[in-house]
Amino acid sequence: MKTSDCLNYLETLLKSKSIKDYAPNGLQISGKSEIKTLITGVTANEALIDAAINEKADAILVHHGFFFKGEEAVITGMKRNRIAKLLAQDINLIAYHLPLDFHPVFGNNVALAAILDIEVEGTFSSGPWQQAGCFGSFKKDLTPEELEKCIHQKLLRRPLHIGGSQKRIRTVAWATGAAQDYIVEASRLGVDAYITGEASERTCHYARELNIHFFSAGHHATERYGVKNLGSHLADKFKIKHKFIDIENPI
Ligand SMILES: [Zn+2]
Repeated sequence: MKTSDCLNYLETLLKSKSIKDYAPNGLQISGKSEIKTLITGVTANEALIDAAINEKADAILVHHGFFFKGEEAVITGMKRNRIAKLLAQDINLIAYHLPLDFHPVFGNNVALAAILDIEVEGTFSSGPWQQAGCFGSFKKDLTPEELEKCIHQKLLRRPLHIGGSQKRIRTVAWATGAAQDYIVEASRLGVDAYITGEASERTCHYARELNIHFFSAGHHATERYGVKNLGSHLADKFKIKHKFIDIENPI
């Protein structure tokens, strides 16, 4: 497929212009004008770029690309190494950050719900984002220990659990990645549990004082699935080769 067609399609699908983000969405580094092999991954780190070169990738599609707000505005050191490899191989780097968290079909939030068998009932907002998180319910009541085990088995990473006092969990809110502070909005929904990727020191106190079960299931672990599903969709639609490469990350 033509790279320009792929980019136009992604923009129509993900509507990134309508979401205020910390990083540029869409094409971040331009490469070949034709894409036959697409590699997807969570973060555009050097290991992923090396693996993509090995697969003879024409494009890499990630959730965490480059040029985040607050990043040094120079291309030196680690960033230079990454970019130099992409330029040398003429590989396109395409990144979608928040549009790929919130999307109702390909977003990380709905993908996590599918993995953990949660029925999505709606979204909640935080900051400038209307669909920052989701809420819903499990098909049956779970003990906190059962939910911890379920997250561990499905995401292949043991979660951090800070307990509320409820013995059973049925209703839940979640937002993937570093959305630990959304626990406040989640508790206002009156749900039994809140699941996200990361935790901060303060999150422990918030969970205890708001009396809500808190699970930090891993930033990487909660954000594998959106980009992977989107890559598979592009492969089906445009008849290209696609591979999701999981660079292990315990955080
Ligand atoms: Zn993230």
